Amino acid sequence: MNNNTDLHDLGVAQLAAALRAKQVSAVEAAQHFLARAKAHQGLAAYLAIDEDVTLAQARAQDAALATGQAAPLAGLPIAHKDVFVTRDFPTTAASKMLAGYRSPFDATVVARLAQAGCVTLGKLNCDEFAMGASNEKAAIAALGLDAPQPAHNPWNPRHVPGGSSGGSAVAVAARLAPAATGTDTGGSIRQPASFCGVTGIKPTYGRASRYGMIAFASSLDQAGPMARSAEDCALLLSQICGPDPERDATSLDHPAEDFTRGLQGSIAGLRIGVPAEFFSDGLQDDVRTAVEAALKEYEKLGARLVPISLPRTALSVPVYYILAPAEASSNLSRFDGVRYGHRAENYSDLLDMYKKTRAEGFGDEVKRRIMIGTYVLSEGYYDAYYLQAQKIRRMIADDFQAAFQQCDLIAGPVAPSVAPQLGAQTDPVSSYLADIYTLPASLAGLPGMSVPAGFGGAGLPVGLQLIGNYFQEGRLLNAAHQLQLATDHHLRRPEGF
Ligand code: GLN
Repeated sequence: MNNNTDLHDLGVAQLAAALRAKQVSAVEAAQHFLARAKAHQGLAAYLAIDEDVTLAQARAQDAALATGQAAPLAGLPIAHKDVFVTRDFPTTAASKMLAGYRSPFDATVVARLAQAGCVTLGKLNCDEFAMGASNEKAAIAALGLDAPQPAHNPWNPRHVPGGSSGGSAVAVAARLAPAATGTDTGGSIRQPASFCGVTGIKPTYGRASRYGMIAFASSLDQAGPMARSAEDCALLLSQICGPDPERDATSLDHPAEDFTRGLQGSIAGLRIGVPAEFFSDGLQDDVRTAVEAALKEYEKLGARLVPISLPRTALSVPVYYILAPAEASSNLSRFDGVRYGHRAENYSDLLDMYKKTRAEGFGDEVKRRIMIGTYVLSEGYYDAYYLQAQKIRRMIADDFQAAFQQCDLIAGPVAPSVAPQLGAQTDPVSSYLADIYTLPASLAGLPGMSVPAGFGGAGLPVGLQLIGNYFQEGRLLNAAHQLQLATDHHLRRPEGF
């Protein structure tokens, strides 16, 4: 390719093809995106890059491409949420607790994408330990900046990008990477994808290995790709999914799949369930309008809209905010100043060292979750909170199974509003409540995705959420791809990028 300025316009499928056809080299592609990452440091998308490491990986892919025996995504640049551990880049989970930490190994998701030929551009900003919905809980300074900052939404830098995978969404939306990985515990792939106008999918719980993903709430955490189109997500998800029995005991014994195969299938006759509870009073008009327009588009494509009910939708918020902190309080007990990262400098004895290390290393939101989690797991409260929440979690999953008797997939909004302004959300409970539409699928372990559906107030993007039954990622991607053949929201770009 002669004109390098066009490189960042290529999505995963196009860029992989250009690399295979040797119209561009892996080194050129990596250099182009690294230059963009540096030129747009003000967006705070990247926490770390390392040119030498990236270019060495790119050279290795160019050598493979020269033999004609290259892996399917040989030379494709990708950036990882800083929750995946990486051997060649620092890993912080955007926490002071892990400042300067280097993992001795790669997360399975990172290793699989490398195996597929991907070249790592760097590590991306997020909320600390993936706890948050705006990227404002990041506690590590982004590349080239002095103080911790959330990534900024490229559609309007005064607005949040969403979270916790905010840096991933920004990197893709601003063309600082053709694709990125994210993690989704209660919406952290879908919601930032929605706020930044990109496509993202969280697979069925257990389809992507959690090995090397810094644990937040282990029974909910899943990895997934974020890219511009459903086709690009399908290419990446095909590499990410698959059993990892040696390393993740919850990884499912379900074979890897080529998700690009079913993209072209007609969706005529597809029954799309529309849950009444996802369109209640809290939903802002601009989001409602865009989501309804996308549903109309589906009708034009021959799908049938079926009114359904997910009666315990509202309960998903208290249930999640009991269970996720409970698991987090247990998972984060490993950060004790001994094994990883930060250790307090001055302390009198071991207990004092633990206390000071954790007081200094964790940010406020992480501490809040540890305290809530410890409380709901403590004797006397365990039955009243934790156990009750577990029971309702099961009922929420059952409600989905009842709904899937009437429909093939479920559609609705991802979030009640477009991206809020930076600094606007001061009260944690109102931010928790805004997770209402993403939490149900997380609690049930179902695959879910966000597909660009148009634009709302202040010209900010709106995502359509699609939820499938277990192992129905292919159906979600097919429906998303068909919508993207009929609309161009996913092709729009923020001004200046
Ligand atoms: N916003 C939710 C939370 O703060 C979800 C985060 C996530 O999916 N990692 O917990």
